[in-house]
Amino acid sequence: IFKGYIQGTPKETDMELRVGKKMKMEAPKGSGSFLVKNLYLSCDPYMRGRMRDFHGSYIPPFLPGSVIEGFGVSKVINSDNPNLKPGDIVSGFTGWEEYTLIHKPEQLRKVEPDNMPLSYFIGLLGMPGFTAYVGFYEVCAPKKNEYVFVSAASGAVGQLVGQLAKLHGCYVVGSAGSSQKVDLLKHKLGFDEAFNYKEEPDLDAALKRYFPQGIDIYFENVGGSMLEAVLVNMRIHGRIAVCGMVSQQGMSDEKGIKNLFNLISKRVRMQGFLQHDYLHLFPSFLEKVGGLYKEGKITYLEDINEGLESGPSAFAGLFSGKNIGKQVICVAHE
Ligand code: NDP
Repeated sequence: IFKGYIQGTPKETDMELRVGKKMKMEAPKGSGSFLVKNLYLSCDPYMRGRMRDFHGSYIPPFLPGSVIEGFGVSKVINSDNPNLKPGDIVSGFTGWEEYTLIHKPEQLRKVEPDNMPLSYFIGLLGMPGFTAYVGFYEVCAPKKNEYVFVSAASGAVGQLVGQLAKLHGCYVVGSAGSSQKVDLLKHKLGFDEAFNYKEEPDLDAALKRYFPQGIDIYFENVGGSMLEAVLVNMRIHGRIAVCGMVSQQGMSDEKGIKNLFNLISKRVRMQGFLQHDYLHLFPSFLEKVGGLYKEGKITYLEDINEGLESGPSAFAGLFSGKNIGKQVICVAHE
């Protein structure tokens, strides 16, 4: 349950576990709804935005005192919907609870697991993977041999961006917040180089070390001082895909960004994007990324916490970098 609107960084105590009333395990006749058992729930940084009393965003705020909504992978238990039957696996918006009655069928889609781990449908083959795919191919407009930098590189989105960039023939460097993550980037995810931004007193100097010739593409996930340092290291006609700014989320007073004049002098294109504007590309994404995974050309790191009760701490952990890879909550194995 989301307790109430927050300021600053989310804490475990902003949410609470409640035992609900007994529910009828049946979708009401004639409603078109269906009942699901939630298997995997997704912790995503954008959910922080739904915890403030602000109605001007692309997604409405959570209702205090109600069940948290988020992406999940669920199994249909009972259905009054002609397109779904018990046993089907669906992915999309569901509740942070054991069972959810889905009134808006369009919020979820049926998935064909095809021997993939079910949790991948909220990670590699779900919203974060799709964000990496459209952000990289559509917004970054990459070319072979370009120099690519990814921040929050070991996370749900960043790890796939880096791997797609490598497959595209780019030179890829990632930043992350621990030596364990840096090690994974270099030795498991195939990045050419990686560094721990927390151990770099001077981010500009760090970027100059890894990109003596400059950066063609910056996949922006964090904002703040990292963006300021990147701006002075961009190459002429570079592109910055602004996917997220996790360091700025929850700050009551967003920090002004220095070095923006570089956008002009280097003719850099900096473009924000939201994955849901590209949903027409979802089928080609599934085919391409699912295919790459099956061919063994990409890998995907997940951080799976067991039990619905682990949800609040797992979600809060996104903002201190506790997660190693895509943060998932396993509510039930099937
Ligand atoms: P991650 O799995 O990367 O988890 C968040 C990570 O952010 C943490 O693990 C941590 O990694 C890093 N982080 C947290 N606080 C800070 C900070 N103050 N400064 C720098 N890094 C920090 O999340 P996702 O991959 O799911 O999301 C990455 C970004 O993409 C987010 O900004 C998110 O909002 C955005 N996004 C945008 C979408 C769109 O359509 N535009 C869709 C989906 C996501 P570390 O240990 O490395 O610091």
